[in-house]
Amino acid sequence: MNAPTTLTPAPTLLFPAPALPLVPVVGSSALYPVHRIFCVGRNYAEHAKEMGHEVDREAPFFFTKPATAIVPSGAVIAYPPGTANYQYEMELVVALGAPAFRVPEAAARDTVFGYACGLDMTRRDLQLDARAKGRPWDLGKAFEQSAVIAALTPAAAFGAVGPQRIALTVDSAVRQEAHLSDLVWTVAELVSHLSKYYHLVPGDLIYTGTPAGVGAVSPGAELEGTIDGLSPVRLTIGAAET
Ligand code: MN
Repeated sequence: MNAPTTLTPAPTLLFPAPALPLVPVVGSSALYPVHRIFCVGRNYAEHAKEMGHEVDREAPFFFTKPATAIVPSGAVIAYPPGTANYQYEMELVVALGAPAFRVPEAAARDTVFGYACGLDMTRRDLQLDARAKGRPWDLGKAFEQSAVIAALTPAAAFGAVGPQRIALTVDSAVRQEAHLSDLVWTVAELVSHLSKYYHLVPGDLIYTGTPAGVGAVSPGAELEGTIDGLSPVRLTIGAAET
Protein backbone atom coordinates (compact mmCIF):
# COMPACT_ATOMS: atom_id res chain seq x y z
CA MET A 1 0.00 0.00 0.00
CA ASN A 2 1.31 3.38 -0.96
CA ALA A 3 1.65 6.12 1.64
CA PRO A 4 -0.67 9.03 0.99
CA THR A 5 1.02 11.75 -1.05
CA THR A 6 1.15 15.24 0.42
CA LEU A 7 1.34 17.96 -2.19
CA THR A 8 3.27 21.00 -0.97
CA PRO A 9 2.16 24.09 -2.84
CA ALA A 10 4.95 26.25 -4.23
CA PRO A 11 5.60 29.17 -1.86
CA THR A 12 4.30 32.51 -2.99
CA LEU A 13 5.23 36.05 -1.99
CA LEU A 14 2.76 37.80 0.31
CA PHE A 15 3.46 41.02 -1.61
CA PRO A 16 5.86 41.94 -4.41
CA ALA A 17 9.50 41.92 -3.24
CA PRO A 18 10.99 45.42 -3.42
CA ALA A 19 13.37 45.82 -6.36
CA LEU A 20 17.05 46.46 -5.67
CA PRO A 21 18.05 50.02 -6.52
CA LEU A 22 20.17 50.10 -9.69
CA VAL A 23 22.85 52.67 -10.52
CA PRO A 24 23.89 53.32 -14.14
CA VAL A 25 27.53 52.99 -15.19
CA VAL A 26 29.14 55.61 -17.43
CA GLY A 27 30.01 54.21 -20.86
CA SER A 28 28.13 50.95 -20.33
CA SER A 29 24.63 49.54 -20.49
CA ALA A 30 25.33 47.58 -17.28
CA LEU A 31 23.59 48.53 -14.06
CA TYR A 32 25.07 48.30 -10.55
CA PRO A 33 22.66 46.75 -7.99
CA VAL A 34 22.95 48.34 -4.54
CA HIS A 35 23.22 46.00 -1.55
CA ARG A 36 24.15 48.25 1.41
CA ILE A 37 25.05 51.89 2.06
CA PHE A 38 27.78 52.77 4.56
CA CYS A 39 28.48 56.44 5.33
CA VAL A 40 31.57 57.92 6.97
CA GLY A 41 31.28 60.71 9.53
CA ARG A 42 33.77 63.57 9.95
CA ASN A 43 36.17 62.73 7.16
CA TYR A 44 37.20 66.29 6.27
CA ALA A 45 38.82 68.26 9.11
CA GLU A 46 37.07 71.54 8.21
CA HIS A 47 33.65 69.87 8.27
CA ALA A 48 34.36 68.16 11.60
CA LYS A 49 35.23 71.62 12.95
CA GLU A 50 32.02 73.26 11.68
CA MET A 51 30.06 70.47 13.40
CA GLY A 52 31.83 71.21 16.68
CA HIS A 53 34.22 68.25 16.62
CA GLU A 54 37.76 67.29 15.87
CA VAL A 55 38.55 64.40 13.53
CA ASP A 56 39.09 61.16 15.42
CA ARG A 57 42.55 59.96 14.34
CA GLU A 58 42.06 56.61 16.06
CA ALA A 59 39.54 55.19 13.61
CA PRO A 60 36.88 56.33 11.16
CA PHE A 61 33.27 55.92 12.23
CA PHE A 62 30.30 54.82 10.16
CA PHE A 63 26.54 54.91 10.04
CA THR A 64 24.27 53.27 7.47
CA LYS A 65 21.29 54.00 5.27
CA PRO A 66 18.94 51.40 3.78
CA ALA A 67 19.64 50.55 0.12
CA THR A 68 16.08 51.69 -0.61
CA ALA A 69 17.14 55.27 0.26
CA ILE A 70 18.86 55.50 -3.16
CA VAL A 71 17.64 58.28 -5.46
CA PRO A 72 19.02 58.73 -9.00
CA SER A 73 20.60 62.01 -10.01
CA GLY A 74 18.16 64.38 -11.67
CA ALA A 75 15.25 63.53 -9.37
CA VAL A 76 12.81 65.99 -7.86
CA ILE A 77 12.08 64.87 -4.30
CA ALA A 78 9.61 66.20 -1.76
CA TYR A 79 10.96 68.14 1.23
CA PRO A 80 11.02 65.30 3.78
CA PRO A 81 8.66 65.00 6.75
CA GLY A 82 9.59 65.70 10.35
CA THR A 83 12.34 68.27 9.82
CA ALA A 84 12.84 72.03 9.75
CA ASN A 85 16.56 71.76 8.90
CA TYR A 86 17.07 69.64 5.81
CA GLN A 87 20.70 69.75 4.67
CA TYR A 88 22.92 68.59 1.81
CA GLU A 89 26.28 66.84 2.15
CA MET A 90 28.22 66.43 -1.10
CA GLU A 91 30.35 63.25 -1.10
CA LEU A 92 32.56 60.91 -3.11
CA VAL A 93 30.84 57.53 -3.25
CA VAL A 94 32.92 54.34 -3.51
CA ALA A 95 31.22 51.30 -5.10
CA LEU A 96 32.71 47.91 -4.28
CA GLY A 97 33.07 45.36 -7.05
CA ALA A 98 34.62 42.42 -5.19
CA PRO A 99 34.22 40.73 -1.80
CA ALA A 100 36.34 42.24 0.97
CA PHE A 101 36.88 40.72 4.40
CA ARG A 102 39.92 41.72 6.46
CA VAL A 103 41.65 43.19 3.43
CA PRO A 104 44.92 45.05 4.01
CA GLU A 105 45.08 48.64 2.76
CA ALA A 106 47.43 47.65 -0.07
CA ALA A 107 44.80 45.30 -1.51
CA ALA A 108 41.73 47.43 -0.76
CA ARG A 109 41.84 49.43 -3.98
CA ASP A 110 41.46 46.22 -6.02
CA THR A 111 38.01 45.72 -4.46
CA VAL A 112 36.71 49.07 -5.77
CA PHE A 113 34.54 48.90 -8.88
CA GLY A 114 34.13 52.62 -9.33
CA TYR A 115 33.22 56.05 -8.01
CA ALA A 116 30.26 58.41 -8.14
CA CYS A 117 29.09 61.82 -6.96
CA GLY A 118 26.56 61.46 -4.14
CA LEU A 119 24.52 63.49 -1.71
CA ASP A 120 24.07 62.34 1.90
CA MET A 121 20.83 64.22 2.58
CA THR A 122 20.36 64.86 6.29
CA ARG A 123 17.58 65.95 8.66
CA ARG A 124 20.11 67.93 10.68
CA ASP A 125 17.77 68.88 13.52
CA LEU A 126 16.90 65.23 14.13
CA GLN A 127 20.53 64.10 13.81
CA LEU A 128 21.79 66.71 16.29
CA ASP A 129 18.98 65.97 18.73
CA ALA A 130 19.87 62.26 18.61
CA ARG A 131 23.58 63.06 18.95
CA ALA A 132 22.93 65.21 22.04
CA LYS A 133 20.90 62.44 23.66
CA GLY A 134 23.35 59.67 22.76
CA ARG A 135 20.75 58.02 20.51
CA PRO A 136 21.15 56.43 17.07
CA TRP A 137 21.21 58.80 14.09
CA ASP A 138 18.67 56.90 12.00
CA LEU A 139 15.90 59.51 12.06
CA GLY A 140 18.38 62.13 10.89
CA LYS A 141 20.26 60.05 8.35
CA ALA A 142 18.61 56.77 7.36
CA PHE A 143 15.36 58.09 5.94
CA GLU A 144 13.62 57.68 2.58
CA GLN A 145 15.25 59.27 -0.49
CA SER A 146 18.29 60.35 1.53
CA ALA A 147 21.05 58.82 -0.62
CA VAL A 148 21.29 60.55 -3.99
CA ILE A 149 23.75 59.12 -6.51
CA ALA A 150 24.90 59.86 -10.06
CA ALA A 151 26.18 57.31 -12.58
CA LEU A 152 29.27 55.32 -11.56
CA THR A 153 32.60 55.78 -13.31
CA PRO A 154 34.85 52.67 -13.31
CA ALA A 155 37.93 53.08 -11.12
CA ALA A 156 40.38 52.60 -13.98
CA ALA A 157 38.81 55.51 -15.89
CA PHE A 158 38.84 57.77 -12.82
CA GLY A 159 42.46 57.23 -11.84
CA ALA A 160 44.01 57.88 -8.45
CA VAL A 161 41.85 59.62 -5.84
CA GLY A 162 43.44 62.86 -4.64
CA PRO A 163 43.82 65.92 -6.85
CA GLN A 164 40.16 66.11 -7.91
CA ARG A 165 38.07 69.09 -6.83
CA ILE A 166 34.80 68.26 -5.05
CA ALA A 167 32.17 71.00 -4.96
CA LEU A 168 28.47 71.69 -4.50
CA THR A 169 26.31 74.55 -5.72
CA VAL A 170 22.82 75.49 -4.59
CA ASP A 171 21.01 77.61 -7.20
CA SER A 172 24.41 78.10 -8.88
CA ALA A 173 26.10 79.53 -5.75
CA VAL A 174 29.13 77.53 -4.52
CA ARG A 175 28.51 76.21 -1.00
CA GLN A 176 31.07 73.42 -0.65
CA GLU A 177 34.53 73.20 -2.19
CA ALA A 178 37.54 71.02 -1.36
CA HIS A 179 39.81 68.42 -2.92
CA LEU A 180 39.70 64.67 -2.44
CA SER A 181 43.23 64.90 -1.04
CA ASP A 182 41.55 66.55 1.98
CA LEU A 183 39.93 63.21 2.91
CA VAL A 184 41.20 62.31 6.39
CA TRP A 185 40.73 58.58 5.85
CA THR A 186 41.63 57.45 2.34
CA VAL A 187 39.47 55.12 0.27
CA ALA A 188 41.90 52.24 0.93
CA GLU A 189 41.85 52.92 4.68
CA LEU A 190 38.04 53.08 4.74
CA VAL A 191 37.59 49.80 2.85
CA SER A 192 40.24 48.05 4.91
CA HIS A 193 38.76 49.32 8.18
CA LEU A 194 35.15 48.41 7.31
CA SER A 195 36.25 44.96 6.16
CA LYS A 196 37.39 44.19 9.70
CA TYR A 197 33.74 44.32 10.76
CA TYR A 198 31.78 43.23 7.69
CA HIS A 199 32.02 40.75 4.86
CA LEU A 200 31.83 43.45 2.21
CA VAL A 201 30.41 42.40 -1.15
CA PRO A 202 29.84 43.87 -4.61
CA GLY A 203 26.87 46.22 -4.29
CA ASP A 204 28.11 47.84 -1.10
CA LEU A 205 28.52 51.63 -1.34
CA ILE A 206 30.59 53.86 0.91
CA TYR A 207 29.69 57.55 1.13
CA THR A 208 33.07 58.92 2.18
CA GLY A 209 32.07 62.05 4.09
CA THR A 210 31.48 65.69 3.23
CA PRO A 211 33.66 68.82 3.12
CA ALA A 212 32.87 72.00 5.05
CA GLY A 213 29.99 74.22 3.97
CA VAL A 214 26.96 72.06 4.70
CA GLY A 215 23.70 73.96 4.93
CA ALA A 216 19.94 73.88 4.76
CA VAL A 217 17.80 73.85 1.61
CA SER A 218 14.17 74.78 0.98
CA PRO A 219 11.60 73.74 -1.62
CA GLY A 220 12.62 74.97 -5.05
CA ALA A 221 16.37 74.64 -4.40
CA GLU A 222 18.44 73.14 -7.20
CA LEU A 223 21.58 71.31 -6.10
CA GLU A 224 24.50 70.27 -8.27
CA GLY A 225 27.47 68.33 -6.91
CA THR A 226 30.63 67.82 -8.95
CA ILE A 227 33.90 65.93 -8.69
CA ASP A 228 36.47 66.27 -11.49
CA GLY A 229 36.24 63.22 -13.75
CA LEU A 230 32.83 62.02 -12.53
CA SER A 231 29.26 62.50 -13.72
CA PRO A 232 27.63 65.34 -11.69
CA VAL A 233 24.82 64.67 -9.20
CA ARG A 234 21.72 66.88 -9.45
CA LEU A 235 18.72 67.18 -7.16
CA THR A 236 15.70 69.47 -7.01
CA ILE A 237 13.83 69.93 -3.74
CA GLY A 238 10.07 69.86 -4.19
CA ALA A 239 7.28 71.00 -1.89
CA ALA A 240 6.64 69.09 1.33
CA GLU A 241 3.83 66.53 1.16
CA THR A 242 0.54 67.77 2.53
MN1 MN B 1 27.79 62.57 5.23
